[in-house]
Amino acid sequence: MNTRRQFLSVSATLAAASQLAPHSFAADSDRKLGFALVGLGRLSTNQIAPALQKTKNCKLAGIVTGSPEKAEAWQKQYGISQKSTYNYRNFDQIADNPDIDVVYVVLPNSMHEEFTIRAARAGKHVLCEKPMSVSVAEAKQMTSECEKAKVKLAIGYRCQFEPHHIECMRMAKEKRFGAIRQIDASFGFRFGDYPLGDLRRWRLEMEYAGGGALMDVGIYALQACRYLTGEEPKSVMAREIKTDHEKFAEVDETILWSMDFPSGIVANCSTTYGFSGMNQFTAYADNGKFGMEPAFSYEGNRAFAGNSTIEKPQIDQFAAEMDDFANVIRTDSKSKVSGEEGLRDMIVMDAIYKSVASGKSRKIS
Ligand code: NAD
Repeated sequence: MNTRRQFLSVSATLAAASQLAPHSFAADSDRKLGFALVGLGRLSTNQIAPALQKTKNCKLAGIVTGSPEKAEAWQKQYGISQKSTYNYRNFDQIADNPDIDVVYVVLPNSMHEEFTIRAARAGKHVLCEKPMSVSVAEAKQMTSECEKAKVKLAIGYRCQFEPHHIECMRMAKEKRFGAIRQIDASFGFRFGDYPLGDLRRWRLEMEYAGGGALMDVGIYALQACRYLTGEEPKSVMAREIKTDHEKFAEVDETILWSMDFPSGIVANCSTTYGFSGMNQFTAYADNGKFGMEPAFSYEGNRAFAGNSTIEKPQIDQFAAEMDDFANVIRTDSKSKVSGEEGLRDMIVMDAIYKSVASGKSRKIS
């Protein structure tokens, strides 16, 4: 298993290595882009790998895992060759593999920075799961390393490709109900009990998760407020509630926060690991309201405008996100879920945690 200490020595060696140029697609625009998944946990297994089979412009071409048993099972299931199978130590050899265009980082949060930077230095474009990192400093480092290596970086904000969300963004932008005055947004779930030693416990460990409910799912509520307003919050005021001090000894269980936006819009948000049912947003405007509930699920999301339900197709959000990234790479354009977008969320979450700690409102510059 990789540690951050090992990363520091690896990155020192790599810092001296030359930057590799990413592949150009101008000449072979029909070729599907090869994705390598780093970390074959629940999200990769249950969502991303199946979604890759539904994409138009991408294919599952490689895997990176610390488990030889998983490697063998995935090779069989998806026809992945041994030469496109890596572990966390020999991962940097991916630089020599022309079948891999994109590295999709699906690891515990504190490992995002390491593998994003190693992938960029190997000349691969990077799609990195949310939250982008565990600190603002890391997020900045990731964007600057990807820029330096001339590779694209995007964050796995799947909701930005979901048709009901896109319709709500349109209603907000076109002021369907007039100017938005207030947004309520919340996302949470009840965190189950894992036996000690279960790898999935990393979400409860500060070293790996960097935070609790806020970093994991509160980020969806934050994203919704940012893309509905099209503005950056100028200040936050937050407080934390903890009922299970043993389970949530290291990370936040429940956080409530409000954000003031430059136009005067106020957002009230909440997130929790303590109970279920929180999965919605509502935008209140001069002449009515619109929103979604459920809002942030993989499927079955629903939107409303006034008293009417909005019918939009149910799609695979991960497939849409990956096809969009393929298009960004092919057209050499900027992703709407770029590294800078991830960095902005990190800055706001950092301010939320600082507001919790100080009990005071926190300005965001
Ligand atoms: P998971 O625990 O199921 O999988 C994590 C993987 O990392 C496992 O394969 C594990 O073996 C591997 N790993 C490597 N080193 C590890 C270490 N030191 N400790 C623990 N695991 C280690 O987690 P997941 O639910 O697949 O989440 C992975 C990432 O995806 C997280 O950043 C999470 O926030 C994100 N995520 C995003 C969504 C979304 O909807 N976009 C949904 C779930 C998770």
